[in-house]
Amino acid sequence: MKEAFKEAMSRFAAGVTVVSARHGEERGMTATAFMSLSLEPPLVALGIAKKARLFPLLEASRAFAVSLLREGQEAIAAHFAGKPQEGVVLVEGAIPGALAVLRCRLEAIYPAGDHGLVVGRVEAVELGEPGPPLVYFARGYRRLVWPS
Ligand SMILES: Cc1cc2nc3c(=O)[nH]c(=O)nc-3n(C[C@H](O)[C@H](O)[C@H](O)COP(=O)(O)OP(=O)(O)OC[C@H]3O[C@@H](n4cnc5c(N)ncnc54)[C@H](O)[C@@H]3O)c2cc1C
Repeated sequence: MKEAFKEAMSRFAAGVTVVSARHGEERGMTATAFMSLSLEPPLVALGIAKKARLFPLLEASRAFAVSLLREGQEAIAAHFAGKPQEGVVLVEGAIPGALAVLRCRLEAIYPAGDHGLVVGRVEAVELGEPGPPLVYFARGYRRLVWPS
């Protein structure tokens, strides 16, 4: 079942985000388990592994940012998924050049197996230039066919 579950999930296309938080130190982490949850109030949700080093920072700071990555930011996604790349840094707590950044206050963390379902209330939205997103599908970074 576990292998079939992983295979099924590899067939689900997702946008790629970097979630970041600061509490003493600042950390970022690549995450595709992200969704828009509610409009009134504006809420988002993320599935974050309890063993992730980011997890205690989320709990302690009770604030985080979600950067929505654009096409071409594959190296940034790889970096914040544990494959270090040269010169990748957070700027003002987020990814420079992202499609959008959502600044969130932690609303709740619900237990969800080996992950936590992290719910954040969106307090500010920063919009970058519009454009195609970075997509993760079938265990690799993909491009969306974008109308010309
Ligand atoms: C496409 C994809 C989607 C994923 N989706 C999810 C998901 O939805 N949920 C989930 O829980 N896991 C997800 N993961 C796994 C997750 O990204 C990794 O397991 C992550 O590396 C573990 O997080 P950590 O906080 O322990 O990271 P760490 O290993 O502490 O950090 C990850 C990387 O980011 C770098 N880094 C951290 N902070 C900074 C900083 N301030 N400045 C510069 N570099 C920094 C570190 O050097 C390291 O290389 C996904 C991985 C991939 C590839």
